[in-house]
Amino acid sequence: MHAPPSSAPLIDPFGRRITYLRVSVTDRCDFRCVYCMAEDMTFLPKSEVLSLEEIDRLASAFIRRGTRKIRLTGGEPLVRRGIIDLVRSLGRHLASGALEELTLTSNGSQMARFADDLFAAGVRRVNISLDTLDAEKFTAITRWGRLGQVLEGIAAAKAAGLKVKLNMVALAGTDDDEIEAMLAFAAREGHDLTLIETMPMGEIDGDRMDQYLPLSAVRARLEQRFTLTDLAARTGGPARYVRIEETGQTLGFITPLTHNFCESCNRVRLTATGQLYMCLGQEDRADLRAVVRTHADDAALDAALDEAIARKPKGHDFVIERRGARPAVPRHMSVTGG
Ligand code: SAM
Repeated sequence: MHAPPSSAPLIDPFGRRITYLRVSVTDRCDFRCVYCMAEDMTFLPKSEVLSLEEIDRLASAFIRRGTRKIRLTGGEPLVRRGIIDLVRSLGRHLASGALEELTLTSNGSQMARFADDLFAAGVRRVNISLDTLDAEKFTAITRWGRLGQVLEGIAAAKAAGLKVKLNMVALAGTDDDEIEAMLAFAAREGHDLTLIETMPMGEIDGDRMDQYLPLSAVRARLEQRFTLTDLAARTGGPARYVRIEETGQTLGFITPLTHNFCESCNRVRLTATGQLYMCLGQEDRADLRAVVRTHADDAALDAALDEAIARKPKGHDFVIERRGARPAVPRHMSVTGG
């Protein structure tokens, strides 16, 4: 006889309840953003990547243990074959009320194809990464992307009824002169906007010191033009929000470097190979793929979840390293999922 699967909440040693799971469904991407990947990335062999059924089983175990929000990411989640089947399958937890939100982070390139299906499966919000509205700059940043295709994707998401949040990585000397233009675009289209500081993750071809732009400087600059009011509201993620009084819109800041957001961290991340990272900025992980591939019942999986969450660290400490130095975290963002 097997013990019934546990429904005990996952609570870490610092009393933080784990309610948010980010799942990287693939390490592959159709873009090669300069701050994220090298141009000649080697991707994982298929056998190492979790099957859609394995992802479903792991995600469902987290939901049973109290996860209320799941974000699918990557790599580019919409280039994973069968992704809509996974979204539909996880959608059953929305229908039952066990899951509050199923969402995804995408580069938007395939959004026009999938937006209606995502909405039908229960997705209501998507994050779409967009660093610039300048077509040439867009291709310079993404190497392989076309701005027009992404703008179509964003429009399709809106037309399908999905609430869109734009994520813009602030890059010194590249897109920092476009933040006001992006705010205006977001206001016009009714999208939210969040700015992200570059994080020192993974070997890339360039120098991160050159790209790094502290958002405190961006905020100070915006404050010369606008009145920013801090908002208490959080979405369960790491962003902090302000309201721009002149336009009424909300602007988010994700500042892993200038502000550590660990004290309220409720998140863990599952990689495409089934490795659970208890912290984006630390190396410690738990191999959940080994557990699902050797145990058909969930008792061992529950034990592995308890053991992993007991190891969740208090926080991380990213530091942008000097030229030639190794990144603070050797794995790429596409591995752990942004
Ligand atoms: N392909 C999807 C996308 O483009 O949104 C999902 C994965 S991508 C890794 C998720 C987010 O991480 C994107 O907004 C991307 O710009 C951001 N990102 C990637 N590398 C980063 C880095 N080193 N620092 C900060 N943000 C990064």
